[in-house]
Amino acid sequence: MRNSSVMGRVASVAVLTAFVLLATTSTTPTLGASLLHQKSSNYNQKLEAIRELSKAAGAPQIDGSVNQEEICLTEGCLDAALDILNAINMTVDPCKDFFQYSCGRWLANNPVPPSASRWSRFNRLRDEVNNVTQEILNEEPNDQDAKPINQVKDFYKSCIDIDAIEVVGLEPLNQVITEFGGWQLLNPGVWNSSAFDWLKSVAEVRRRSLQSVILSVYVSADLKNTTRSAVYLDQPGFGLPRGVLITPENYTALITAYENYMVEVAQELGTSQTEAQLRTSAKAIIELEVAMAKISSSDEARYDIDRIYNPYALNEYQTITDGVDTEFSIVWKNYLDQVFSSSGVAITDNEFTIVNELEYIRNLIPILKGAEADTIANYIVWRLVSGLIPDTNAAMRAIVFKFQQALTGATVPSTRDVTCANAANGVFGMAIGVKYIEAVFDDDAKAEVNTLVENLRLSFKEMVTDADWMQDETKTEAIAKADAIRSFMAYPDWLENKTAVEEFYQGLELADTYFNSQLNLALYRMDKGLKGLREPTNRDEWIMYPGVVNAAYSPELNSITFPAGILQPPFFGKLRPKSQNYGGIGVVIGHEITHGFDNQGAQFDKDGNFNNWWDDVTKVEYDARAQCMSDQYSGFFAEAAGLNVNGDLTLGENIADNGGLRESYRAYQKYVEENGQEGRLPGLEHLSTNQLFFLGYANIWCESITPEGLVNQILTDPHSPAEFRVKGPVRNNAEFAAAFSCPEDENGMNPPEEDECTVW
Ligand SMILES: [Zn+2]
Repeated sequence: MRNSSVMGRVASVAVLTAFVLLATTSTTPTLGASLLHQKSSNYNQKLEAIRELSKAAGAPQIDGSVNQEEICLTEGCLDAALDILNAINMTVDPCKDFFQYSCGRWLANNPVPPSASRWSRFNRLRDEVNNVTQEILNEEPNDQDAKPINQVKDFYKSCIDIDAIEVVGLEPLNQVITEFGGWQLLNPGVWNSSAFDWLKSVAEVRRRSLQSVILSVYVSADLKNTTRSAVYLDQPGFGLPRGVLITPENYTALITAYENYMVEVAQELGTSQTEAQLRTSAKAIIELEVAMAKISSSDEARYDIDRIYNPYALNEYQTITDGVDTEFSIVWKNYLDQVFSSSGVAITDNEFTIVNELEYIRNLIPILKGAEADTIANYIVWRLVSGLIPDTNAAMRAIVFKFQQALTGATVPSTRDVTCANAANGVFGMAIGVKYIEAVFDDDAKAEVNTLVENLRLSFKEMVTDADWMQDETKTEAIAKADAIRSFMAYPDWLENKTAVEEFYQGLELADTYFNSQLNLALYRMDKGLKGLREPTNRDEWIMYPGVVNAAYSPELNSITFPAGILQPPFFGKLRPKSQNYGGIGVVIGHEITHGFDNQGAQFDKDGNFNNWWDDVTKVEYDARAQCMSDQYSGFFAEAAGLNVNGDLTLGENIADNGGLRESYRAYQKYVEENGQEGRLPGLEHLSTNQLFFLGYANIWCESITPEGLVNQILTDPHSPAEFRVKGPVRNNAEFAAAFSCPEDENGMNPPEEDECTVW
């Protein structure tokens, strides 16, 4: 999932996130685990570690009020106790700050590694998955395996081989630049402006490097009739976060870093221009990009599906944009013909087209008309070049990293094997998944977590039934939608079929060099997406590959997906206490189900169509509840960033976090009712199993982050910072306050009722 943020929604990649270029991606270095945390196969060692940690933490000694027989001493319970003890800071009052209480020790012992902008238990698990991936990729090719499995090993080998990449140098990049007619700012004297066709170039950048520049286009399900697909015309992505570009005066250091980035790349490529001349060109590019960012819509403005769903016949839309300025025409048919040129799909004159951002395109026309042709060309080629240079030589990679440093606060680049494993997963995730499943996945987890999905689904439906703010007719619709959610667990069955794996990757061929292979992969991905235009929607489509530590909800497919990567501790373990499984994967499942009913998901019906199923009375109630939560989160101040959380941007995720926690707690209570109370954990005997449930939840979100990373997250990520993913949902949860006997405290975890917000 734009493999970045946690528990995001991916399916709407196209509609909701395709234009995000700088989402906070996680780099994943390996840290030496602390001695006490090492998983030892020795039961007694674990017990000893628990005693030491518990004593050091100052855990209250049990005075006999807890019967020793009520303590769970299975290995699964020992592991869970160790996880909690390695994170908890018992000197903090859980009712004052549950994040510091649950994660204080972990935060103190787990600074952000130099190559990352954030570090969490999520990241550590991703590391483990990445290590398995690298082992798979380092194995010798095997004739018995499906072709893509051997291809990805070759691809990985070519990526790791930095000596060969160095020998190839910038030659293939220069060749691509030449195909675009050169880059004016390098050598203005030899540049032929009359030969430059901006629209064709923009289409080619999209087709060959997947980047959207000035305009964007993609194929996705028609949101009003998800059985078929449509062409979407959209606003583009940018080279800096949109939030930076629309207020450049607030981010002068980043703007300067961006300018330096362009100048250094140009110098590395070889130029006839002085640094001063390059800076003049770079400033003009940034000015143009700022102007375009300012007419673009924010992510949160795009949550209103009605606003971004504007269907036209292509020729009808042509008439509209031609009417904006009779002297400046964007010939849409030419643009689409170029983008689709190698896809095998022929665009018709009256092609059914959905325009997302009418205003953006209307306002773009005068900007393009008024801009220097040189600047437009320079900007387009800049975005092309910046997309391709990470796959070139060491000098270029160092320049790229210097810019990323300014954005993320990382101080050293990721290791090459991590970079290459991520690149391999980007396209070959399913092929690697075949081997990943064989190597490490325990199939029992699939059945057990499927049961949890049904328990969570039931919880959600019961909460709908109990909701006193909903009219009966809308309750019926909501329950029908919850029943219709399709759940995809661990991996698709077709991975076990060699022929199916080969068919999935049909048409993908590697090239002579790593750089050219990357070009092939980009074109393959683009064309594969575009080909979907004439095919019926595949409702069995997996939107994540197996080795992903994440989960997703798709509004168009009304489906939830839990890849094999997340079906392991700390989220799930078949031997671990249920309090931890419900606090972990249980909340994740609830989170994804609730996405079907958040401020975006609620606009889609049980078949995934954008279609209002809410009665007016209930809708007014829903909007008021959502507004409460938006205002509440906007009040959270992230000190290290000097910024407040954006309650509108993060609303859907916050609704999902709050609902997921409540649903899973309810499901856990039902489990206890039916199966009896679980034992307490050794070293944590003073904590009830209900308290352990909330600790299990909070521990998932123990995370350290750099100030730069935090700024970037608040500007671009629909997920709230980890601290507030813990504090927000527990503040709104009466059962949390009851479990920890928290007194009412407007600054603590149990605010007065009028300060609490509940959607689900
Ligand atoms: Zn989410």
